[in-house]
Amino acid sequence: MSSPVVAARGVGAGDQPAVVDLRGVTRSFPGPPPVTALHPVTLRVARGEYLSIVGPSGSGKSTLLNVLGLLDRPTTGEYWLDGTATHAVGERQRTALRGGLIGFVFQAFHLLPHRTVLDNVLLATMYSGLPREERLRRSYEALRRVGLEHRIGFRPTTLSGGERQRVAVARAVVTGPRLLLADEPTGNLDTTTSGEVLDLFDELHADGLTLLVITHDDAVAARAGRRVRITDGVLREIA
Ligand code: ADP
Ligand code: MG
Repeated sequence: MSSPVVAARGVGAGDQPAVVDLRGVTRSFPGPPPVTALHPVTLRVARGEYLSIVGPSGSGKSTLLNVLGLLDRPTTGEYWLDGTATHAVGERQRTALRGGLIGFVFQAFHLLPHRTVLDNVLLATMYSGLPREERLRRSYEALRRVGLEHRIGFRPTTLSGGERQRVAVARAVVTGPRLLLADEPTGNLDTTTSGEVLDLFDELHADGLTLLVITHDDAVAARAGRRVRITDGVLREIA
C-alpha cells in the first residue's frame, strides 16, 4: 500500500506478525434503544493461527465479524489488518483491502444458483487483474483443493450442503487471502457434512492459512487451536 495514512507495522508481541490486531475496539448502535454490541475488544491473531470465537445468540459475534471483515467500522478503537491501519483509511481503500486480504464463508453459502461451480469460484477472481487463463487455472486448483474437481460443471443446487460449503470455501481461498473469516460455517449442515468442512479447515490451517471461525457451537469451536468466548460483547480467552 502506498497511501501515506497506511503505515506499515512491525512484528507484534509473538514471533509471527499479526494478521488481526484489534485495539480497544467498540461498536455501539445509536438506537433507540442504544446498544453497545462490543465493549473494548483487544484481540491479536497471529499469522497461521486458527482461532474460534464462540458465544450465544445476541452476544456480538456478527458485529465483530463485520468489523473484522471491513464490512463495518468500529465506533472507537483501532483495527490493524496485516499491518494496515484500517480505521484510518477511506471506503475505497477498505474495499480494496477486503478484496485483497479477506475470504468470507457464511452459514447460507451465498452461491449463485444458476452458475456452475466453476463460475462461482471464477467470479471471485474477477477483480484480480489476472488474465482469464490464470484465473481459470487458480479456480481449478481451488476446487481441486476442496476435493470438488469432479463437480466443476454442476450447479450448486444439485450438490449436498457439505459440497456447497466446500465450493464457498474454494471461492473464499481462490484469491489467496491472508485471513479466512467464517460465520457459522456449519450452521446449515448436519454432523457428517459439518465434519467435511471442519476437516477442510484443518487442512487449510496445515497449509498455513490464518482462520477465524465464529460459531455458537462449542464442538465446532473446539476444532480451533485457540478459543475465545464472547458474552454480551466482552471477549475472554478460553484456557
Ligand atoms: P450475534 O451474531 O452473536 O447473534 P449480533 O452481533 O448480531 O449478535 O448482535 C449483538 C447485539 O447488537 C444484539 O443486542 C443486537 O440486537 C445488536 N445489534 C446488532 N446489529 C445491530 C444494528 N444494526 N442496530 C442495532 N442493534 C444491533
Ligand atoms: Mg450472528
